[in-house]
Amino acid sequence: MTESADLAPIREAVRALCANFPGEYWRRLDRERAYPEEFVAALTKAGFLAALIPEEFGGSGLTMSAATAIMEEIQACGCNGAACHAQMYTMGTLLRHGSAEQKARYLPAIARGELRLQAFGVTEPASGTDTLNLRTTAVRDGDHYVVNGQKIWTSRAEHSDLMLLLARTTPRAEVKSRTGGLSVFLVDMRAARGKGLTIRPIRTMMNHATTEVFFENMHVPADNLIGAEGDGFRYILSGMNAERILIAAECIGDAKWFIDKATGYAREREVFGRAIGQNQGVQFPIARAYIGMRAAELMVREAAALYEAGKECGAEANMAKHLAAEASWAAADMCVQTHGGFGFAEEFDIERKFRETRLYTVAPISTNLILSYIAEHVLDLPRSY
Ligand SMILES: Cc1cc2nc3c(=O)[nH]c(=O)nc-3n(C[C@H](O)[C@H](O)[C@H](O)COP(=O)(O)OP(=O)(O)OC[C@H]3O[C@@H](n4cnc5c(N)ncnc54)[C@H](O)[C@@H]3O)c2cc1C
Repeated sequence: MTESADLAPIREAVRALCANFPGEYWRRLDRERAYPEEFVAALTKAGFLAALIPEEFGGSGLTMSAATAIMEEIQACGCNGAACHAQMYTMGTLLRHGSAEQKARYLPAIARGELRLQAFGVTEPASGTDTLNLRTTAVRDGDHYVVNGQKIWTSRAEHSDLMLLLARTTPRAEVKSRTGGLSVFLVDMRAARGKGLTIRPIRTMMNHATTEVFFENMHVPADNLIGAEGDGFRYILSGMNAERILIAAECIGDAKWFIDKATGYAREREVFGRAIGQNQGVQFPIARAYIGMRAAELMVREAAALYEAGKECGAEANMAKHLAAEASWAAADMCVQTHGGFGFAEEFDIERKFRETRLYTVAPISTNLILSYIAEHVLDLPRSY
């Protein structure tokens, strides 16, 4: 499955932009755990973060394949799209399920870069992957909802104006269907911060701007409910295929970066009077990582093609995410090994990318949950939970 030639100029433009953000830029931010403001601003200005916003709302109106090419290229250049990837998939929920008024109010402003929709509040400390068991509540009171509860791992909340929030509007015991009673809100965090919304950063092994978020009687206007009350879980699920495909593309980009670094080093580094890459013991792990990356890349392309054709792609999106996350992690490990001691040195960027790419077999969905999805939904095995 070869990629359309139309995407070559997009890839080239992303590469040109990323050239302004070399390793030392990311190393400094990593040391300071600082947000890549300039990088995100440049991507926004170039229209890349509005790739999936239709032209009628001021976006670039590109396809999912184009969006994957953008995210892949960012990673393959050694940059980190995790600073801003959420905008691409969270705004899909607004686009598909928001009212005409909500779309007109928010999408053009997001496309222009005046508003950032980078925060996605789903995961909670107590319920984890068991989303239907989340405890944050939103209770209607006249023209607004009152939100109480807590989210965890709400990435980029400090660097976003808006958050897509999933909260329970009907107690679990009172809902008719297992997945009912949850609702999605677009929270304007600029208005809510200090008025019931508290954001606390969590330091992690990589620079990810992730946080925990506390809601204490936070008021959200009823106008900011997306779609119908109680249908929120379905809306969030409908955005998950895009999320999986885009993150899979990022993993492919990471794998390409690691493979490129390793081959370059294996050709140049001489030990025992010859290039280390002349040893099959060094060549084979690189070749293996390359094969894994290419196989995963095919699945990412297939998932993106199905998605943009409007076809069912849950299995392919999950398999793409799984294969790509495994491929990038295998390539990361191989790259450290190929570099020997230098793989640990900060200035080579490998240890930084190694830490960054480790995330993707855990988030946004962990390996086991993907395997369980395939077992139950594709292979028709009994439900395990
Ligand atoms: C850096 C970072 C950024 C994140 N960003 C966001 C964000 O922006 N927004 C957001 O909402 N969330 C975010 N997340 C949360 C992320 O999606 C979750 O961490 C992930 O889905 C796993 O959930 P958990 O951590 O609660 O693990 P748990 O659900 O507690 O699971 C722990 C382990 O047990 C396994 N497990 C659990 N149940 C089963 C089962 N039934 N069968 C087999 N294995 C099982 C899981 O696979 C996992 O390996 C982020 C997480 C991290 C670390």
